[in-house]
Amino acid sequence: MRKDYFRDYYTFVTKRDERRIEEILPPSNGDYETCPFCPGNERLTPGEISRVAKGSHWQVRVFPNPNPITAEEEDAPKIPWKYEKTESYEEIIVDTPNHFQRTHQLEISELKILLNVIKERVAEVEKRDNVEYISVFQNCGFWSGAIDRHSHFQLVAFAKTPPKIKEKIHQSSHGDCIYCHIVGKEENSPRKVLENNSFLAFCPWAPQQTHEIWIASKKHLRNLNDFSDRDTLALAEIFKGALQAVSRISDDYSVIFNIGPKGDNFHFHIEIFPYYNERYYGNFEIKEGYYWVTHTPEQSAKIYRGEA
Ligand SMILES: [Zn+2]
Ligand SMILES: [Zn+2]
Repeated sequence: MRKDYFRDYYTFVTKRDERRIEEILPPSNGDYETCPFCPGNERLTPGEISRVAKGSHWQVRVFPNPNPITAEEEDAPKIPWKYEKTESYEEIIVDTPNHFQRTHQLEISELKILLNVIKERVAEVEKRDNVEYISVFQNCGFWSGAIDRHSHFQLVAFAKTPPKIKEKIHQSSHGDCIYCHIVGKEENSPRKVLENNSFLAFCPWAPQQTHEIWIASKKHLRNLNDFSDRDTLALAEIFKGALQAVSRISDDYSVIFNIGPKGDNFHFHIEIFPYYNERYYGNFEIKEGYYWVTHTPEQSAKIYRGEA
């Protein structure tokens, strides 16, 4: 990976875009016949790591990512700037055997199974050498940048925690946790969307994407391993509710699980946003850290609550 001239930012150069071009072509009706994520095509993926069986096939299936986003750059010029060997590990978690099903269409019991698989995989991958931080995320649908149409989550384990995450962790694990404070305040705000005994779903005060929504635990849970069975069920319920709300805006969305790095005390939360108006970030937002949205988070919450 290429390191920024002087900051702690890294760039991976991958060949994934070549596949994206294929995806831009009109979908063939039978693409599930060659989809490596569909039951019956298991031979098309690298060796299976785990599965949750259902009937004659499976509900959730995990295998190493055949097209890692953090792949080593071939023949990278190593001077004069810094090139570091990529220390990462990636898995694909296919959350449904159905080629056309999206995550928001899963039953709560199926989402609970998925969450338990993510929990197990994070616990397992954390034990590997050179793993400090694990990112679990989903890009769902074409406008999210997803290369494969079949719904899936990605797990990427890094040897270093990214700087943007470090900043969040610092605020979460030193002194009073900022996320506990945020949840306490947003619980009674016009930005609240949904809640149950363990979790709150709300639109953040200063969103970085239009209609962004967060799910945070009401008590300070570090990561899925801290969750009781009841917490996991409560998360499955609110995750379903939040995704259904998001799907009213768009079927294409991104989900990021904010899970604490090994040994840290990061407050677990999920960030979700729909691809609204098919809009991507421009340079202004990426480079300068100023964002703009077309709806206030209070309006977004109203739409999500079905009041607008
Ligand atoms: Zn498929
Ligand atoms: Zn907290």
